Order: sequence, then structure tokens, then C-alpha cells
Amino acid sequence: RPVILWFRADLRISDNPALNAAAATGRKIICIFVHDEESPGLRPLGGAARWWLHGSLEALDGDLRRRGAWLSIYRGRTQTIILGLAAETNAAAIFWNRRYGGAERQLDETLKSALKTQGVEAKSFNGHLLHEPWEIRTKAGQPFRVFSAFWRAAQETRDPVLPLPAPARLEPFRSDHRKGLQAVTLADLALEPSTPDWASGLRSSWRRGEQGAHDQLDRFLDKHIGNYAGFRDYPDRAATSRLSPYLRFGNISPRQLWHAAAAATHAEGHGTSYRNLEKFQTELGWREFSYHLLYRHPDLANRNLQPQFDAMPWRIDPQALRAWQTGRTGYPFVDAGMRELWHTGWMHNRVRMIVASFLVKHLLIDWRQGEQWFWDTLVDADPANNPASWQWVAGSGADAAPYFRVFNPVLQGEKFDPDGTYIRRWLPELSSLPSSSIHRPCELEGITAGYPERIVEHKQARARALQAYKDLRTTS
Ligand code: FAD
Repeated sequence: RPVILWFRADLRISDNPALNAAAATGRKIICIFVHDEESPGLRPLGGAARWWLHGSLEALDGDLRRRGAWLSIYRGRTQTIILGLAAETNAAAIFWNRRYGGAERQLDETLKSALKTQGVEAKSFNGHLLHEPWEIRTKAGQPFRVFSAFWRAAQETRDPVLPLPAPARLEPFRSDHRKGLQAVTLADLALEPSTPDWASGLRSSWRRGEQGAHDQLDRFLDKHIGNYAGFRDYPDRAATSRLSPYLRFGNISPRQLWHAAAAATHAEGHGTSYRNLEKFQTELGWREFSYHLLYRHPDLANRNLQPQFDAMPWRIDPQALRAWQTGRTGYPFVDAGMRELWHTGWMHNRVRMIVASFLVKHLLIDWRQGEQWFWDTLVDADPANNPASWQWVAGSGADAAPYFRVFNPVLQGEKFDPDGTYIRRWLPELSSLPSSSIHRPCELEGITAGYPERIVEHKQARARALQAYKDLRTTS
């Protein structure tokens, strides 16, 4: 009887606990991926994430083939497919790595009990996080709401487990697929765009899959981690790891990053390197915290964690929303970020904070509209990080940014892109402006042809936001 390995958000063969456990059973293995757009509650992937998924599945199949196995892809309702496949192949067991979204957990639970009645063992593992969300608790046994306390407790719990090597060889199970369930081809899933082909910028920016992740990690450790703490806020320096989409789809694991960064730092061995390591590992900590929140609040992407925000008088303004989405607000730092996002499927963290704050505070548009746009356009669109970060910026989340912090997009640009390199890259129409005025083109006369006027004035918009937030505090 074979064992089924069900790949989900863990599209890799190294440090994949479920895969290693399946290989260790000594049974023949069936590797599957199920593209499920039918089960209730599962959030459909956005366009950029679908594109990433395509490349990851293709790469995973290649990696499995080099070890003697392959990936079979199915499309449809998970429960029907998995129960059917287990029966058809007389599988003894099915192994997977855990997911933490509400609908996914519900689906896994139901499936587990259905498999049990069919005599199939279902076993799940942690392949996605450094710590399970339920492991980190306050002294009173409660989940944390504040990041710093959460992260202190996480670090006191234990060191993240060492990563596992990829199994050397996999023994595949060959079933007679002429009968029963039919696998589909990757092309059948139509995950990549055809016409219009909007993905050319994505293709030239990324190499998807596990090897791409390790190349990216090597580059980061080689060139950037040594300056991470000092440069990570500067979008023109490209000093961060850019590993977020790989983590999102599990092309690499957080444990691999944690230990590889530590090993590179120990090899370097001087004091300043440890500050960079600590900062980088703390960012992985923010990812853990987002999952901690998602686990506790399955509706994180839809509901304000602080209920008084339900009364926020968000504005409905399709024109302003469109200007923000297309990078035509008249604020260069915001517009450069939104165009980087559209072109590459990614945006630097500092710029994400500024554009999000601009939407929510300057435009007073509901954070959920921004979260949805990011969900559709980010290659790293993450079910935990995306809504948790949006709620953090809006002030409606756990441990959120203070309501009175309204970033000034001009000053932020001047501080974090002082030479205007980032602006010139993404806003070619401003490329000839001197650094001294590139963040405030509206103050020049006649040079801004093709670049829009500001859609709101910072001073008035800031005052309006502060008033709305203050009213909310006094009425709740
Ligand atoms: P690095 O600085 O190299 O950090 C390493 C890893 O740590 C990242 O890959 C990421 O997994 C994690 N990380 C870093 N910063 C954060 C953070 N603030 N919160 C949570 N995890 C973090 N991140 C996503 O992965 N997916 C999202 O959908 C997403 N949406 C965001 C939306 C908004 C409004 C904001 C402000 C932030 C969002 N982030 C999201 C967090 C952060 O911007 C990205 O993780 C980061 O920019 C990825 O770049 P990097 O891999 O170079 O990060």
C-alpha cells in the first residue's frame, strides 16, 4: 500500500518534514497537488500568486523527477479527490504539512476524520513556521497581542529545529490512471496569463521554485546580510532578502533561512554581524506573529481586530482608488511603489508601509480595498502577513501603528531615497529632475509633463485623517 504526499504551501523537497516522513515509511510514494477552487471558504489566489504557483509546481515536478518520482496534479474539490485517490490506490497513509487559515484547517480536520473511517492514516507536520502558533502563550496561557512580548517568549521557548536534507531517492507508486481519477496537466490549470500577457515584468524579475530560492538566499548572505540592519529601509539599495514569495509558497522554509543566516554570521564572527542577524531573524519573527494572529482570528482579512473600527467612516472614492492602484497619486514615493508592484509583483517593505498609510489615512479608503489589491498583485500575497500588515498600518490590528502616525510621503521619500534613484527607476517621466526636487515635482513649474497633480494635499488629508481617528476614539 502506498503513501500519498500532499503538497500545499510547501513546494520544495528539502526541509520538508512530511516528505521525509513519507520517504521513511519505506512505502511507495504518490506526490500530489490539488488545485481547489471549489471547497467553501478557500480564498482564490490572485493573479500574481497564480503565476508564482505555476512556476513552483513546474520546478517541484522537475526536482521530484530527479529523485525518481513526479508530481500528479488534480483539479476540483479536495475532499472528493483525496478520498477517491486513497480508495483507488489503496493508500495506507497520507502526509502533509500544516496550513493555518480557518477554511484550510476546517477542510483538513474534516478530511482527517473521513480518511480515518476509510482506514487511511493522516499525519500532519510543521513545515511552514519556526513555532506552531499554539506553542507560544503568555504566562496565563493566552495568545499574545503585542509583538515584542510574543517574540521574547518565542525565543525563550527553544531554538528553531534544524532543517532536514532532501530525501536522496523516492520510490514512486505506479497506478493505472486509465480508470478512476484523472490527473490534469499544469497547463490545464491556466495559472499563467495568455492575452494580455501582463507577466513579462514578473518573468524578468524572478526565478520561481526551490533552486531559485536557494540562489536568492546565497546572494543575500553573500552581499547584503552584512548591511541588513542599516540598509533594509532603503528601497534603492535592494538590501533585503526578497525571499518573501519563496516563503509564501514554501519553496524554502523559515528554518532554512534562520539557520543559514546564523551560520553565515558565525563564519563572519564580529559584533556588528550579530546585529544584522538579529534584525533579520526578528523579521522572520513578524511573519510568525502574523500566523499567530491568523490562527486566532481566521477572519483576519475581513474583520477589524479592534471592533471600534467598524464605525470608521471610510470614503468610497473609485477614482482615488484607481489613481493609487495605477501609481498616479502625484506623490512620487507612493507612485514608484505602486508601479514597482505592478511591474514585478513585489514592493519594498518601507514603501509598502507608505503606500498603505497613504490609502488608509490620506485617502481614508478602507484597508480591505488595499489588502485585496495587494492580494491580486503581489507574488508573495500571504494569507497571514498581508492582512496582519494592513491592519497594523490602519491601526485596527493587534499591536498596531499609533493612529496619529500619518507618514508624510514626501519626507519619507527624501529620507529613504535621498538621491531619487528609486523614483527614477520606476517613474521615468521624472528621471531628469534633480534629487532636490524629485520628491516634490508639483512645486516645479512646467517640468512635470505626463506626471499627475497631487490628488490630495498632505496637510489637509492629514488633518482629515486625524479628525476621523479622533472621532472614532471618542465615540467608542
Ligand atoms: P526581508 O527583510 O528580507 O525579511 C525576511 C522575511 O521576513 C520576509 O521574506 C518575510 O517573510 C518576513 N518579513 C519581513 N518583514 C515582515 C513584516 N513586516 N511582516 C511580516 N513578515 C515580514 N509580506 C509577505 O510576505 N506577504 C504579504 O502579502 C505582505 N503584505 C504586506 C502588506 C503591507 C501593507 C505591509 C506594510 C507589509 C506586508 N508584508 C507582506 C511584509 C513585508 O513587507 C514583506 O514580507 C517584505 O517586504 C518582503 O521582502 P523581503 O523578503 O526582502 O524581506
